[in-house]
Amino acid sequence: MLYDILIVGGGPAGLTAATYARRAGKSVLVIEKNAFGGQITWSPKVENFPGFVSVSGAELGDKLLEQAMEQGAEVELDEVTAVSVRPDGIKTVACDSGAVFEGRALIAAVGAKPRMLGLAREEELVGSGVCFCAVCDGAFYAGKDVAVNGGGNSALQDALLLSEKCRRVYLIHRRDAFRGERKLVEALEKRENVEFVLRASVAELLGGDELTGVVVEQDGQRRELPVAGLFVAIGHAPDNGIFSGLMDLDRAGYAASGEDCLTATPGVFVAGDCRAKGVRQLTTAAADGAVAALAACRYLDE
Ligand code: NAP
Repeated sequence: MLYDILIVGGGPAGLTAATYARRAGKSVLVIEKNAFGGQITWSPKVENFPGFVSVSGAELGDKLLEQAMEQGAEVELDEVTAVSVRPDGIKTVACDSGAVFEGRALIAAVGAKPRMLGLAREEELVGSGVCFCAVCDGAFYAGKDVAVNGGGNSALQDALLLSEKCRRVYLIHRRDAFRGERKLVEALEKRENVEFVLRASVAELLGGDELTGVVVEQDGQRRELPVAGLFVAIGHAPDNGIFSGLMDLDRAGYAASGEDCLTATPGVFVAGDCRAKGVRQLTTAAADGAVAALAACRYLDE
């Protein structure tokens, strides 16, 4: 079937775009490879999305999906592996399952994936001590000692959540001060089982098949922390590889676009964290979704 708009990525940007496009009367398919709601489903508590005093990321993700589907958006759980534009302007996406979808316009809203530290054996230990999501994996470490690495809101939130179930939480950050919200830092300062390990970086992962500890370098000294889990929360990198032939990517891989979210290819738009911009927040992802959808509608109506 030929859709008016194909949306790749079902996070806040993609789902908001779907809601706006449907309300403008366009047929819409949203393709998501993991979980509808995107990165936000990993956040235990969201307190800065307008209209919600406090809501879990998973619940907010569910509501965004429900809203888009209520408006008539179709959704598919599949991984898009290739994207191309035919000479007649039709956008074609091929998926891991073998399915191929066509659209007159396309919105890339693939967000970003967690960055890794680049340490020896890090990939091998993913799921065996190295984690990227405290909401998803924290329960496996109940009663154990863990470390979180990072200084942004994700690291602070992960440390707070883990401090509720783990025996001890080391929060390792390379600077003296945190980039994340002061309110979260203050909450952590009050937790007796949380230790800040500042001006420090993880230098080595210890253990065999399972992580048994990490070595940190702090002020020129090496220190061993015996932890069963290391939660890496050092930010995200965009996942725009499949779109590289259709849009200009900056050095970090973010997609260039105008204020209207239009890329270098007519009818191809970009929205959310994968777009080159100054502020990456839930609110700005949702805003991009609306802008990209309305621009795509104008493109279709021209
Ligand atoms: P972030 O804000 O970019 O923070 C990444 C942190 O990792 C920074 O403290 C950075 O250190 C550190 N870092 C980067 N590379 C590193 C490396 N190689 N080794 C060690 N440390 C490294 O990322 P984030 O915390 O994932 O948050 C992403 C965005 O989502 C932010 O805008 C955040 O506010 C937002 N967010 C919102 C919520 C919410 O509840 N609404 C929840 C989570 C995240 P430096 O400070 O030294 O650069």
